[in-house]
Amino acid sequence: MRVPLLDLKAQHKIVGKEISSAIEEVLESGCYILGPNVKRLEEEIAAYCRVKYAIGVASGTDALKLSLISMGIGKGDEVIVPPFTFISTVGVITQIGASPVFIDIEEETFNIDAEKIEEAITEKTKAIIPVHLYGHAAQMEKIISLAKKYNLKVIEDAAQALGTECLFSGVFSKVGSLGDVGCLSFYPTKVLGACGDGGMVLTNNEEIAEKMGFLRAHGLDGDYSYCLSGYNSRLDELQGAILRVKLKYLDDWTNMRRQKVHVYNELLTSFSSSGLKIPQEASYTRHNYGVYTIRSLQRDHLKEYLTRRGIGTKVYYPLPLHLEEIYKGLGYKKGDFPVAEKASREVLSLPIYPELSQDDIKLVTEEIGKFVNSEW
Ligand SMILES: *Cc1c(COP(=O)(O)O)cnc(C)c1O
Repeated sequence: MRVPLLDLKAQHKIVGKEISSAIEEVLESGCYILGPNVKRLEEEIAAYCRVKYAIGVASGTDALKLSLISMGIGKGDEVIVPPFTFISTVGVITQIGASPVFIDIEEETFNIDAEKIEEAITEKTKAIIPVHLYGHAAQMEKIISLAKKYNLKVIEDAAQALGTECLFSGVFSKVGSLGDVGCLSFYPTKVLGACGDGGMVLTNNEEIAEKMGFLRAHGLDGDYSYCLSGYNSRLDELQGAILRVKLKYLDDWTNMRRQKVHVYNELLTSFSSSGLKIPQEASYTRHNYGVYTIRSLQRDHLKEYLTRRGIGTKVYYPLPLHLEEIYKGLGYKKGDFPVAEKASREVLSLPIYPELSQDDIKLVTEEIGKFVNSEW
């Protein structure tokens, strides 16, 4: 592979020593789950995102699922969600017995189209899950004002968007801090990645925070005494220690990715007349560019071409979830969400990571140029 989609080994070269000594400390401490490192990580991420509470859990998926459960959402309830997202955003809704109600996305941001939410609200609607896809904020101002109007909960899926900012009430705030809860994932490929699974719930709501603390650990409120029926969704100390090392670098890494994106955009705009589109950053957001996604009408051919030339790419996501076989029982059909369907045919994510070199970007864009000039 000449340029991989993501190079976690390059990151490890930078933080490896610090991580090894953090791991050694945990191993010597004899405390392996929900200990001081997880507690400090929760405090540090709460401070970083400017929320009162952060609760570590076993994955981003669990963060979403336990959030819904903590709000009493379940059987017979409806949850509004975009169809153009990772499967777990929708999976958690069906797993708790509620029904996902899909709303199409915006062409420019790939995020839920806030203008289309109101018409889908029914008596059964309990919550909206906006997804900050690729790291671009959804239109939180509109979404939260609708939620207030109809008394709905807002659960932000910020799994791809740690560090992303969104203009809200005139100030830029971190996404994940704006809804009733925000959900983070520490899956290794996310901008803050563990060496395993992990996730976190952010909230300013004391009651939800308290409930989440019980839900993630069997509902224990004493020695074999329980206040509710809980789950096993704990974050472990090794991941906590590793994430604390990496958190210190997060803003630098985001800035480095933003610089790469600047270079990519400059080099790729010249192909716009050939139907290649660079990602847009709306003025209300500061994108973390955890994922860099272009659009092409020749996406499949372009992907194949780049693969053959040793350039890693990925399609997030090849099928919008209303067309997913396992959800056919929901009754949606082709054509229901044309913007999402079109995006799933056109998107292609290119290599992006802090250590990506200028030469790598040149190589990628030159190959794209060769493809564009030959195929069009
Ligand atoms: C990664 C991701 C999740 C799930 O996170 P896990 O930690 O893998 O469970 C949920 N939603 C989106 C949009 C994601 O990208």
